[in-house]
Amino acid sequence: MRRPIRGRRRIGATAVAGVLVFVVTAALIGRLESGATPGALTAGANQVASQEPSLSSAAASADAGGTASPSPTATPQPTPPATSADAPGTAAASTRLYPAHIALDAWPPVEPKPLSALTGYVWPIAHPRLTLPFGPTPWGSRVVDRKLFHDGVDLATFCNDRIVATHDGVVLAAGRQFDNFLGWVGDLSAYYHRLDVHHLWPDLPIVVVIDDGNTYRSVYAHFWKVVVKPGQRVHAGQLIGYEGMTGHATGCHLHYSIFSPYQTATFGIQAKVAKDMRLPRLEIARVDPLLILPYRRGISGSVKNLGGS
Ligand SMILES: [Zn+2]
Repeated sequence: MRRPIRGRRRIGATAVAGVLVFVVTAALIGRLESGATPGALTAGANQVASQEPSLSSAAASADAGGTASPSPTATPQPTPPATSADAPGTAAASTRLYPAHIALDAWPPVEPKPLSALTGYVWPIAHPRLTLPFGPTPWGSRVVDRKLFHDGVDLATFCNDRIVATHDGVVLAAGRQFDNFLGWVGDLSAYYHRLDVHHLWPDLPIVVVIDDGNTYRSVYAHFWKVVVKPGQRVHAGQLIGYEGMTGHATGCHLHYSIFSPYQTATFGIQAKVAKDMRLPRLEIARVDPLLILPYRRGISGSVKNLGGS
């Protein structure tokens, strides 16, 4: 009599423990994958953005809208296959658990530095005009607090003007394979598949993404031509390419933006654009480059209302 009873008890206890482990594990995984922000990662992060998805086009990939004009001088990068080994969303990436809102290629997570600690920046173009500031605008391609939002600054001079690195760093992307490094929150495989199937790679802008070595990345878009390659170390002020209008742009200019892959706040992407382009609905929030670039009378003053002429 006793044996079966003990046996049943033992089995029962084991089963209960097993269920508990499963439930706890499932809850943890669900929390990490569901978009909930782990508390430890939230602490200290600037919640600068809305969680609301909405508008946009491919990050740097599209800022003004319209059809693409493939670059005449193109990128040194070959057209990538959608299944490239380093593409997030592939089997390699999906086997790891990432907290939501941390870039897939930024691991382990650390705290983004405060903006006041970001030094050593120079302007990417020597004497630019600010043609579109960071912030709410009818021409924005993101959504923050329910408003269309421009997630960088547009700086313009003339086609083929020199564009230099704003900070010392290491080139992460140079060409049309850049989306892996833009801080998309979600899987890009459907987006890449669409580019492959419809032969849309040439429509993308030519972009450079640089790890500035300070927990932030700089994104430069719409080059005619780039002169750096992934993995290359660059210094502030070093030539990285020439101003153009590749991708969705109405004229030659540089779209410049800065973000930390460790940031947990996000910007929304316009629902229709995300749907049409098969893009994730969120990107990691950007910061206003004018808060980081050296003060420049005229440009900085006009945006910050500091009284500059
Ligand atoms: Zn722009």
